[in-house]
Amino acid sequence: QAKKAGRDTLRFFNPRMQEVINARISLEGDLRKALEGLQFRLYYQIQVDSSHHRFGVEALIRWIHPDRGLVNPAQFIPLAEESGLILPIGHWVLETACIQLKLWQEDVLMRDLVLAVNISAVQFHQVDFVAQVQSLVQHHAINPARLKLEITESSLLKNIENAITTMTALKDIGVGFSLDDFGTGYSSLQYLKRLPISQLKIDQSFVRDIVTDSSDKAIVCAIIAMAHSLNLDVIAEGVETEEQRQFLLDKGCSHYQGHLFSKPLPITEFDALLSQVERLKNE
Ligand code: C2E
Ligand code: MG
Ligand code: MG
Ligand code: MG
Repeated sequence: QAKKAGRDTLRFFNPRMQEVINARISLEGDLRKALEGLQFRLYYQIQVDSSHHRFGVEALIRWIHPDRGLVNPAQFIPLAEESGLILPIGHWVLETACIQLKLWQEDVLMRDLVLAVNISAVQFHQVDFVAQVQSLVQHHAINPARLKLEITESSLLKNIENAITTMTALKDIGVGFSLDDFGTGYSSLQYLKRLPISQLKIDQSFVRDIVTDSSDKAIVCAIIAMAHSLNLDVIAEGVETEEQRQFLLDKGCSHYQGHLFSKPLPITEFDALLSQVERLKNE
């Protein structure tokens, strides 16, 4: 009896809180097993220009959980970041992307594709990040100019000097950079000017209501103008409708990614989509 009471006093007061913590512990345990269990997949989403020509692709991680089924990154990337598991997961993502790039590089139809890979702040700020990327590029014999790393503003601002050094070193070997979710962070023009990036990616939260919301319109126009004046490419994410695409095109943004063109797809479906597009073009 006393033993039971003692144990109970150690429990969290709020049973809801205990539930949340238990769920988290169990998810973290599963996440640890997911890499060895080969439960991660990369999905691929096409990027197109104003003449609907595909020029790039973004790799997006998915977790195929044995019981929960398909788990989206929003449900596990934050936990992976807090627990440090993002380091082995992020390395797996980069390596899988390099292996895929190598396959595309050997295919006449695919070899001009640029593959964008999302990089977490913790991963990016590791002391040996440059060496990791360099060794993957060499080991898999890929053309570094076909690899683009997507970094967010907030991860740069964690240590701007280190970010500049890392990006400059990678740019020197030919790797490109895109600033993801642009507009949601706090980059100053001063920093933007110093960063060796080649692309700004307009966050989908601004694209969603672009046709109707006047402040979203203004923000998007400002981002496009800024990109042009800094000589950067600009791509809009989350483009779902022809009206959104037309608005963006009118304002000078000619690169798009979103469900209007395709959802992120598993590799076999993605390859099938691309070869279909190529076949139509050559007919
Ligand atoms: P992100 O890099 O900004 O990726 C864009 C997200 O928008 C993706 O969500 C994509 O599936 C989704 N999306 C694309 N087109 C549309 C559209 O037309 N409408 C809507 N509503 N959504 C669209 P996803 O795949 O769930 O990824 C969410 C975030 O998780 C990513 O945002 C990125 O920050 C992170 N993430 C994904 N894969 C990786 C990865 O391999 N490593 C790391 N560190 N983070 C990743
Ligand atoms: Mg991204
Ligand atoms: Mg984004
Ligand atoms: Mg995002």
